[in-house]
Amino acid sequence: MKAPICEVCLKTDGILCPADEKKLQEGIISELDVKVARLLYRLIGDSDVEFKKAVEAGDLVVIVVGEGDVPLTIGKGGKNVKILTRELGKRIRVIEAVEVRKPEDVKKIATDLLYPAGVFGVNVVYKPSGDNYYRILVPDRDRKKIPGRREVLESIISQIAGAEVRINFI
Ligand SMILES: [Zn+2]
Repeated sequence: MKAPICEVCLKTDGILCPADEKKLQEGIISELDVKVARLLYRLIGDSDVEFKKAVEAGDLVVIVVGEGDVPLTIGKGGKNVKILTRELGKRIRVIEAVEVRKPEDVKKIATDLLYPAGVFGVNVVYKPSGDNYYRILVPDRDRKKIPGRREVLESIISQIAGAEVRINFI
C-alpha cells in the first residue's frame, strides 16, 4: 500500500519518524491522514492501493484513493468500510482522487459524493472580491436525497477539490 507516511510509520503506532513528523507539523499531512493510513494498512496491508488523503466534516470521513483503488479499499461486501466506520465512529465514503482544474473535475467529485442526488452541472462564480468558487447545481427535487447536511458536504467537497464550493438547488 502506498501512503503519505513511510512504511515504518504505517506499521507502528504512536510517534512518527522525524520526516513524517515534519510533514505533520507543516500541515502537508493531517492527524486524520496518519490514523486512516495506519488503519487501512492493517486491513489491506500489501495490496496495490494508493491512499492519498482523508478529509472529515460533521459525521462523515471521505477517504481518497488512487485510480481504480476503490474496490480493494472498500473490501469484499464492504468489510473494510464496516471496520473503519467502527474504528472512526463516523460514516465512511471512499472515492477516487481527481485533480481539479476545471468545473468538470468538481462535477466528478460531487457526483460521487452527492449520490443518490443528481448533479446537473458545475459552474464558476466570480465574486466581487475577485475570488471565485464552484457552484454545484443539484435539482431541487433531489434536495432530500443528498447524503448529509449541505454544509458538511460543501466542506468535504471543498477540502477534496482544494477550492471553495457551494451547493445550489435549482
Ligand atoms: Zn515515517
